[in-house]
Amino acid sequence: MPTVELSPTVKSFLDADKRLLIAGDWTDASSEALIDVVNPADGARISGISDAAQQDVDKAVAAARAAFESGPWPEMKPGERSRLIYKIADAMEARAEDLAQLETLDNGKPINFARSDVAASIGAIRYYAGWADKIHGSTHNVNMPGDFHVYTLKEPVGVVALVVPWNYPLVMAAMKLGPALASGCTSILKPAEDTSLSALLLGQIMLDAGLPEGVVNIVTGYGHTVGAALVNHPGIDKIAFTGSTMTGKTIAHAAADRLKKVSLELGGKSPNIIMPDADLEAAIPASALGIFFNSGQTCTAPSRLYVHEDIAEDVIAGVAEFGKNMKIAPGLDEESMLGPLVSAKQFERVSSYIDAGEKEGAEVRSGGKKHGDSGFFLEPTIIANTTNSMKVVKEEIFGPVLVTQTFKSEEEAIALANDSDYGLAGCVWTSDLGTGHRMARKIRAGVIGINTPMGADWDVPIGGYKQSGIGRENGRDGLELYLQTKSVFTSL
Ligand code: NAD
Repeated sequence: MPTVELSPTVKSFLDADKRLLIAGDWTDASSEALIDVVNPADGARISGISDAAQQDVDKAVAAARAAFESGPWPEMKPGERSRLIYKIADAMEARAEDLAQLETLDNGKPINFARSDVAASIGAIRYYAGWADKIHGSTHNVNMPGDFHVYTLKEPVGVVALVVPWNYPLVMAAMKLGPALASGCTSILKPAEDTSLSALLLGQIMLDAGLPEGVVNIVTGYGHTVGAALVNHPGIDKIAFTGSTMTGKTIAHAAADRLKKVSLELGGKSPNIIMPDADLEAAIPASALGIFFNSGQTCTAPSRLYVHEDIAEDVIAGVAEFGKNMKIAPGLDEESMLGPLVSAKQFERVSSYIDAGEKEGAEVRSGGKKHGDSGFFLEPTIIANTTNSMKVVKEEIFGPVLVTQTFKSEEEAIALANDSDYGLAGCVWTSDLGTGHRMARKIRAGVIGINTPMGADWDVPIGGYKQSGIGRENGRDGLELYLQTKSVFTSL
């Protein structure tokens, strides 16, 4: 088995104490308690991270506030800020394999996918480095009586809390750090308790690249303790959150108290509609990969398959076959296509959905069982003959589990697709682009794929309709989340 040999720098990183990054220094948390870092491929403890508390959050917010009020970062010439962000991206590239190995060890994902995640994260940082010196306001010819010179300024929103999930740990952190840095904000990053390692190494990389103290602070710990302390902290001006819809609602309440700015990238249950004229040779493997990739732990995963009744049997059999042929193996195996779920808890959660589907009368068409004796591996699973009233169709499972239904007409497919509390993504397979674009307009979701399960690019906004979120990340829209507009009137 071609297994990746851990680099000496990764080994020493795993053995070293993990502290909190506060004011440019690795700082001991107020408590000595550690949270075990577990390798989901075998359940073994590989390291420990600090279990931070309120006092640590207070220090991190104070450091970010000081860096924002009196540090060099917000006042720095934009070109200089841009160059420093590019330097961070270059430094990430120099440590790319270490970042990928840590991501695989921590999250479980196949090493080749972790390498792509690292490349994507570097891409996000570079993309926003390019924006840093292109932020500007506008001038206005106003209708007011008198003579005025009127312009707007774009200013950084201030101290931002960046709270991210465990499914794409580094990508999620980079997607938020990029615009936070480019806009001149200072921040406190709170990675998920299950996957904090790559964020901690990124912290060191940013320090080594010369990021001034306090511009990015990192606190680790549980969501209900350190996460809650952070989002409720009065010193926070904006919260940027990616995670589950349930936590997103709690965070929206926390933000409401002081009317903090808030952007939420939340869960999804995205429809994948296969029309009878679709190119099945393309649609079948892409639909399978769309849901099984990253063991189904992707917010935009096309997890509800609606397939025209004339082609349903072929499509479902094809997707099942593709799943069976995916190599399930620890992420450090270079040939692994499907790694474990992130944790024992997530494994139990996903498995309980499969049981619930059977109890509700759906049929487990393929997979559904634990794979192997150790670790949290689950077979790619298809639950067929579902209805939209079933729990497995309504709720986000966040595992390699596809639910399927058939439809008779385009109108019925759209109605089924839109009958959901979520609205993050959706896709349509058809050889008639007219049909594709017409349906794209009708699906109520933030990202639509026509003959592709999903698209993602740093320049293209992503975000949710309905309960899938508030705001759009990536591109200019993503940058705007970190800026405020000030209008200035001058009497001439
Ligand atoms: P989660 O909501 O449990 O946790 C996300 C983060 O929030 C973690 O860092 C966690 O520690 C923290 N947190 C938990 N409770 C908190 C609280 N009360 N206050 C402050 N912080 C708190 O989500 P998860 O299980 O880690 O991630 C999976 C979810 O993320 C899925 O629902 C998925 O769809 C979603 N997601 C969405 C997108 C998107 O772009 N829309 C992208 C990736 C993941």
